[in-house]
Amino acid sequence: MGIVVQKFGGTSVANAEKINRAARRAIRAYQAGNQVVMIVSAMGKTTDKLVALAAEIHQRPPRREMDVLLSTGEQVTISLMAMAIDAMGYQAISFTGGQIGMITDDHHTQARIQKIDADRIRKDLDAGRIAIVAGFQGVTEEGMITTLGRGGSDTTAVAVAAALGAKECEIYTDVDGVYTTDPRIVPEARKIDEISYDEMLELASLGAGVMHSRSIEFGKKYDVRIHVRSSLTDSPGTMIVAETKGMEDILVRGVTLKKDLARVVLMGVPNKPGMAAKIFSQIAEHKIVVDDIIQNVLDGGHTANISFTTTASDATEAKLVCEAIAKELACRGVEVNGNLSKVSVVGVGMRTHTGVASKMFSALSKGQINIQNISTSEIVISCVVSEEDGERALKLLHETFELHKAP
Ligand code: ADP
Ligand code: ASP
Ligand code: MG
Repeated sequence: MGIVVQKFGGTSVANAEKINRAARRAIRAYQAGNQVVMIVSAMGKTTDKLVALAAEIHQRPPRREMDVLLSTGEQVTISLMAMAIDAMGYQAISFTGGQIGMITDDHHTQARIQKIDADRIRKDLDAGRIAIVAGFQGVTEEGMITTLGRGGSDTTAVAVAAALGAKECEIYTDVDGVYTTDPRIVPEARKIDEISYDEMLELASLGAGVMHSRSIEFGKKYDVRIHVRSSLTDSPGTMIVAETKGMEDILVRGVTLKKDLARVVLMGVPNKPGMAAKIFSQIAEHKIVVDDIIQNVLDGGHTANISFTTTASDATEAKLVCEAIAKELACRGVEVNGNLSKVSVVGVGMRTHTGVASKMFSALSKGQINIQNISTSEIVISCVVSEEDGERALKLLHETFELHKAP
């Protein structure tokens, strides 16, 4: 008997009809002789609505309370899904994160999973029940509710699959797989049949919202294949695996766009040892996630501007923290530039081939798109551009690297 883990995203459980459809899919897997675990997201746009509601009440809602609020979305779905399965004559049991011992750290709204009590789920699977687990949520050792970051149900799913020793995790969503870029922005985007964990991890971290990046880390670490597919059809989707055929020959696998970024600049920081350590330890203490960091030395070496990019939502808090640091270190001041985006090209072939960067820069230059910052890693090249240029840059890069054509 195999274990099948199926995750259904928000659009795939958006109403009663879709909940019933997901329930039937789980029952089919059960009838085929498998033990079945479902991981579900909040219905439709529930999480967005809860975020908007909180914003009406508080400018910077306490993160702990955000978690208490947002976790309610998934709790609605688990109960309805269990009812749907019961109504179809099968046994089901729903679990919140806390009920399956999904223990996380205390980094509210961005918590990381530390352990899962797989025995709790196993007991019910062995008793012939379909287990339904709330995605996106956990609890701290002290029992405080946490959430894993937007899109985090994918991570719950792959982590549960790993804990149960499943070889594969199915992610049912509103697209039929992972595309060369977001098909909502670039209609020419092409579905990828197979992609490596390394490439998917980069695509996900750099803006490909189809998968939560931590889920790919779990898949890679625990050797769980991830099958991203449509909840509306039975067609095969995209397999995320360790190695794909001829992967070193594919220079660029996909391109991404990350929106809503801001740059925070600390101006006139004394240019002496220990400054960066001081600044970024305080930023980290406030749990602000920092992207690229740039330091420019000025005034013949006496001072420096230190800047970093962060999400627009963290920028207000980052500014407050930096203003306090600026006062303490007698810096010149703090500036925040909003409305930035980041376009990236990703491919493992870049490890062994050259020329991708120059092709990328000349495409952006031909499109009259100003590059504000460049960062690279072994398999990624990213450029920060203004938000208004972001989508055009993405389309240009998709075209330049001919991603609409099969490799
Ligand atoms: P779910 O609610 O099922 O988790 P998401 O909205 O989180 O679904 O993810 C699916 C969406 O991700 C798609 O509708 C698509 O617009 C977007 N997306 C962004 N980048 C990609 C990509 N490279 N491939 C496929 N979909 C993408
Ligand atoms: N409901 C959460 C969100 O919208 C988690 C998820 O769907 O994966 O971000
Ligand atoms: Mg998602």
